[in-house]
Amino acid sequence: MSIKENLDKIKNSLPRYVTLVAVSKTKPNAAILEAYKAGQRVFGENKIQEMTQKWEELPRDIQWHMIGHVQRNKVKYMAAYVSLIHGVDSFKLLKEIDKQAKKNERTIDCLLQIHIAEEDTKFGLDENELINIFNSDGYKELKNINIIGLMGMATFTQNENQIKKEFKKLHSIFEGIKNSDTSVSTLSMGMSGDYKMAIAEGSTMVRIGSSIFGARNY
Ligand SMILES: *Cc1c(COP(=O)(O)O)cnc(C)c1O
Repeated sequence: MSIKENLDKIKNSLPRYVTLVAVSKTKPNAAILEAYKAGQRVFGENKIQEMTQKWEELPRDIQWHMIGHVQRNKVKYMAAYVSLIHGVDSFKLLKEIDKQAKKNERTIDCLLQIHIAEEDTKFGLDENELINIFNSDGYKELKNINIIGLMGMATFTQNENQIKKEFKKLHSIFEGIKNSDTSVSTLSMGMSGDYKMAIAEGSTMVRIGSSIFGARNY
């Protein structure tokens, strides 16, 4: 199947309120343009350098989402254009994003990444750390970032009950935050292998790569 056919099939299966992030990491510009011509405008990358190069070379109405782990010293390279940063996992990083956004005279939308998986290899905050950020005085001083929601990744496993349990947990944390902060509306959870389950558990944004572009060769 072509990229367009894959995209159409996935888009037709998504509820209207779910945003599709086409994860184009490692894929060439030609593949991204094929998706672009099929109407896709939101793309996700996990390396700032690669995303910046693609941003320079591809149409300007593409919305670039940073879905990978972000090093503080690299925020400056994407601050002028990034549309949403999914993986914010510390207050220090949030502060740096705010600083770089201010330099660029803009506000950058962010998601806080929550650790829901069993693996230690996945990044993210626990529930207490999340609440501490929202309640801190420092957070209120950051005028150039906007936390619009949460992101999480389930354990890499075939055990659907485990994945479902982790998605449920993230959704319940999300509901709690949403009730106390009106700018929170986005829950980024679900990838090629588990997005249907994620939507059933309350996802509003799915990050899908291989089911659109095919398997990645690293
Ligand atoms: C690569 C990646 C995805 C997409 O994974 P697929 O299984 O190819 O759909 C989603 N989220 C994050 C954070 C990723 O790094």
